Formats: sequence, C-alpha cells, structure tokens
Amino acid sequence: NGQKIGFIGLGNMGSRMAPHLVNKSNSNLFVFDMNEKTVTTLVEQHQDGRVKGCSSPNDVFEQSDVVITMLPGPNQVESVYKSAVNKIRDGQLLIDASTIDPGTSKRVNELILKSHQIDMVDAPVSGGVGGASGATLTFMVGGKKQAFERAQPILQLMGKNVIYCGGEVGDGQSVKICNNLVLAISMSAVSEAMVLGTRLGIDPKVLAQVFNTSSGRCWSSDTYNPHPGVMDNVPSSRNYEGGFAANLMLKDVGLAIKAAESAKMDLPLGELVSKFYTEMRDEHDMGNKDFSGVLEYFKIKADT
Ligand code: NAD
Repeated sequence: NGQKIGFIGLGNMGSRMAPHLVNKSNSNLFVFDMNEKTVTTLVEQHQDGRVKGCSSPNDVFEQSDVVITMLPGPNQVESVYKSAVNKIRDGQLLIDASTIDPGTSKRVNELILKSHQIDMVDAPVSGGVGGASGATLTFMVGGKKQAFERAQPILQLMGKNVIYCGGEVGDGQSVKICNNLVLAISMSAVSEAMVLGTRLGIDPKVLAQVFNTSSGRCWSSDTYNPHPGVMDNVPSSRNYEGGFAANLMLKDVGLAIKAAESAKMDLPLGELVSKFYTEMRDEHDMGNKDFSGVLEYFKIKADT
C-alpha cells in the first residue's frame, strides 16, 4: 500500500479496472492512454489528487513501482515495452493484462530481462466490462512464483479470481486464448440457435429461459445474452455498444489459430467462427460493435 502504480491503456476495460486500485487501497495511480480524454476523465473523477495523468507511456514507467498495461493487442504491447526499455528500473513489477499471443509475451519479457532485474507476469482477464466495473474479473497469471505473489494482492483489488497458470510468462495467455476460443464458439452457437428459434416464432425470452435452465446453458446465454431485449445491461440491449469489440474477438481467435499451428493441430471450429467475425467486420461494418452482435450478423444473413 502507498505504492505507486502505473496504468497504460484506459479503454473499455482499463478505464473500469484502474479506479479500483485507488478506491480500495492508498496507492497513487499514474495513468496514460493515447486518447487524452479517457485520462482527463479518470483524473477528474478523483478529486483527492491520487490519480495523475502522464504525458507518455515512458512517463508512467518513470513514475511507478508497478506498471499495468491493458492494451488492444500484441503490436501495442510490444511497442510500449520496447520503447520503455531504457526507463524500466530494477525491482519494478510489470503486469501485462492485455490479451496477446504467448510468443510475444515471452519475447517482451526476455527483452527486458536482458538489461534489467524485474518481476514480470502476464495476467490476461476474463469477465468483460461488467467484471471490470464490479472488480470480479478472473486473472490468468503466468510467470515466476515470486512475481505472481507480488502481483496477486494488486490483481485482487480488480478481480475475484487470480489463478496461477504456470511458471513462464505467456502461460496466462495460453489459458486465456483457449477460454476465448470457447467463448467465440459458444456465442456463435447461442446466436445461431436464437435466430432459428425466433424465426420459428418463439419469444427470445422464452428461448433464453429454457437454455438457461437446460443443457444449452452457458455464459453467452445466461450472463451476456446476444438477443436484444432478453437482458438489461448487456451490449445486445444497447445496440451492441460498449462491450468487447468483434474486432478484438477476431484477434483472439486468430491468436488461438496461431497457437494451434505451433501446437501442430487444426482448429476447425476456430476457423469457422473466425470467418463469421471477419465477415462482420468486412461486409457489415460491425467490427467495432460488441462481439455478441454476431447474432445480428446471422439475422442479416438469414434475411437475405
Ligand atoms: P479498448 O480498445 O477499448 O482499449 C484499449 C486502449 O488502449 C484504448 O483506450 C487505446 O486508446 C489505448 N491504446 C492503444 N494503443 C496505445 C498505446 N500505444 N499507448 C497507450 N494507449 C494505447 O480495448 P479493451 O476492450 O479495453 O481491451 C483491452 C484488452 O483486454 C484487449 O487485449 C482485449 O482483448 C482484452 N479483453 C477485453 C475484454 C472486454 O470485454 N472488452 C475482456 C477481456 C479481455
């Protein structure tokens, strides 16, 4: 406590995760995002001055003892850490909570270890924007046990489950991309079935009620239902805005396909859902919509 914690990447997830760090401990927070507005908003929400805006990612690394990154994908993560290498100090704890491929995670870690003695973990999350707001995320953590033990109390401020996935940086990512492969497939499955059911004349709420008390039950149906009007406070009830973008899901399925190549196996279901999310982006301009908008995409296809 009283730690200086840096946070880079205040998007849909980061902007909801970072406040817990100051609201639930006496830490000071140093934040940066390319989008200046998100920085200003967070600083203004904390009138006690414990959240400070920084002028660059490197400024965050200079000011903080612990740095958390929550960036879109591998390219952004690699470029932020690469350009910060000279600012990183021995003894710092670095936590990358973005979802990226295990290979990039390992490479970034090795690059920093060449010149510094630091603790690093990868700690991708599951639980969506709701989990980020409510501090109920699951963190999947990879890295040395000592680094994990240092990161654990900080991650617990933002999540309910902090799970140690293995001793290598990147092990959290391996677990995360397997989880998201399940999610992309289950969301597509629930969406396809709900479009079928409603075209057969059934009320979507009835479909969901039955799935959720039967063998079709899953997170995509009972916590994040893709059909508008079935649940409040989920992206499907606000025109698929403000959740987990279809483009990010496409990225994650791509990471799974890439990982499957290195594990020498095919990913037939992964390839299929990757096609859905690619068409959502390229043919329907829905890449920035929430990934549960795959239901809307199935509907459009059924109607044409
Ligand atoms: P987002 O696109 O909403 O936010 C990313 C933020 O990073 C943006 O504010 C962007 O301005 C900022 N950014 C990009 N490049 C930057 C750079 N070089 N320096 C500083 N800031 C930079 O994404 P998100 O939904 O918050 O997701 C973040 C990560 O978490 C992704 O890897 C995603 O796959 C993962 N994730 C998201 C969810 C979800 O439900 N949204 C759930 C689990 C995991």
